[in-house]
Amino acid sequence: SITPATLSSLSNAARKGMLIKSGMHLENLESATAVAFDKTGTLTVGHPEVTDMILSDNQDEKEVLARIVAIEKGSTHPLAEAMIRYAKQTIDTRLIDAVEEMSEITGKGVEATIAGDTWAIGNEKLFEESHQEPWYQSQANNLKEEAKTLVYLTRANEVVAIIALKDEIRQDTIDAIKRFKALGLHPVMLTGDNEKTAEAIAKEVNIDEYVASCMPEDKVTALKKLKEKYKTVIMVGDGINDAPALATANIGVAMGAGTDVALETADIVLIKNKLEKMLDLISLSKRMNRIVK
Ligand code: ADP
Ligand code: MG
Repeated sequence: SITPATLSSLSNAARKGMLIKSGMHLENLESATAVAFDKTGTLTVGHPEVTDMILSDNQDEKEVLARIVAIEKGSTHPLAEAMIRYAKQTIDTRLIDAVEEMSEITGKGVEATIAGDTWAIGNEKLFEESHQEPWYQSQANNLKEEAKTLVYLTRANEVVAIIALKDEIRQDTIDAIKRFKALGLHPVMLTGDNEKTAEAIAKEVNIDEYVASCMPEDKVTALKKLKEKYKTVIMVGDGINDAPALATANIGVAMGAGTDVALETADIVLIKNKLEKMLDLISLSKRMNRIVK
């Protein structure tokens, strides 16, 4: 049964842009001692832009761009959209046909067969390099240290180009993390991005614990571990891949701009994508529990 105090708290929260699907979630918030965040789209804006493209020897920039566009036209991933926007600055992308058989590989990238060759665009999990010290190693490390996400274009497992993308940190992220900590909540970042980039972003936002190179199921495993250690755990995410983790957390929170799956799975939705609102909710939870009990 729902008490008048709970009801008024829920409608109060809704007016301020926080949709809470049940009074129970609001009640539980007070006892949370850890909060897990997805990186892309949650701590960051989720709108990456290409900053660098580095070609291996003998590669032609326009040809490489055309190849990327042909493969990524079939993807709606934010990284794919960013690469196509970038290509438009140099080539007429309308003239490029999407490859017919392209497949997306969850957590890794996309693959296509073109004229008998396997081409792929994605992260390091997507290919196995044969060289001991690949040509791009030092440049790749520098870009990762700048908190950039790296994407590789490969042909038959050989890296043809590396593309670096930067996604801005949300304007309220750093302050929100500080406030979570002050309330005694331990922050953890979960991301599909590589170790070095994850480390650089975690440092920027002052999060000490992070799990990188996460596949969706790895986010679930991480949450189960956090629940053992911290009992009541909040998870904040936005993507399709975050849905299983949102369901595993004691309290799943979706950013309002998130995918439908995330919005449906979540217990709480932050309509205006403001992490800071979670802090208001925790205060509200405390006030409400005092009235209800
Ligand atoms: P996240 O939102 O945490 O990055 P995703 O599962 O959406 O998680 O993606 C994981 C990784 O897979 C990306 O960081 C990227 O390296 C790679 N990836 C996925 N889709 C694409 C794509 N269309 N083009 C290039 N890389 C991709
Ligand atoms: Mg995300």
